[in-house]
Amino acid sequence: MVTTIELSERQAKIVEIAKEHGPITGEQIAEKLHLTRATLRPDLAILTMSGILEARPRVGYYYNRQAKSLLFAGAVGRLKVKDVHSLPVVVRDGASVYDAVVTMFTEDVGTLAVVDATGYLVGVVTRKDLLKIAIGGGDTHIMPVGMVMTRMPNIITVNPDDPIYKAAKRLIIHEVDALPVIRSVTDPAGDERLEVVGRLTKTNITRLFVDLADERR
Ligand code: ADP
Repeated sequence: MVTTIELSERQAKIVEIAKEHGPITGEQIAEKLHLTRATLRPDLAILTMSGILEARPRVGYYYNRQAKSLLFAGAVGRLKVKDVHSLPVVVRDGASVYDAVVTMFTEDVGTLAVVDATGYLVGVVTRKDLLKIAIGGGDTHIMPVGMVMTRMPNIITVNPDDPIYKAAKRLIIHEVDALPVIRSVTDPAGDERLEVVGRLTKTNITRLFVDLADERR
């Protein structure tokens, strides 16, 4: 379980000020935020109690560099799939294996979401699925993607509002490189279908990890 420190917008601003100007008195922080010292008191209490800010009597508040890991964990708890996912790359189930390979090259991805004629998710196809056909001697110009894909309902997906930690865990547990980000919709026949709104990949998680370490998130 990840312990999280979730900062409010104002608390994050206080941390920024302390990082840049610390040691700085509560009065001076309040001035910069155009607030009163009294308004800031609960925020400063939370920030010092959690160890993100240090307070020295008669000197002021300053940022505790070691608190980075607390903020890191906080960001992991706060961020959602929609904050990091990439654009979806889809292919029609009737497209040929050859076309899917071309799409992987032109879009620079290793996983494609497969959709039917109505645009709803029916499967996923990855480079190894396609390589299997190539080395098996199948005719890649004739074989449709729909025949080689992993199909619904066996597709592991995530919702835009899912926590990023949940998505990362799914990538690990199911040993896949990417998850379609989906939105559930009811089609005209009253059936529940999945609309592909994004692509959540191991690269998204790796980039987030680096951004957090560089304090860009
Ligand atoms: P690679 O083909 O490069 O090993 P993966 O490890 O992502 O890529 O895929 C392994 C297998 O799992 C493939 O057969 C693929 O069709 C399937 N797969 C990939 N992503 C998903 C997913 N989100 N849900 C279900 N199956 C998937």
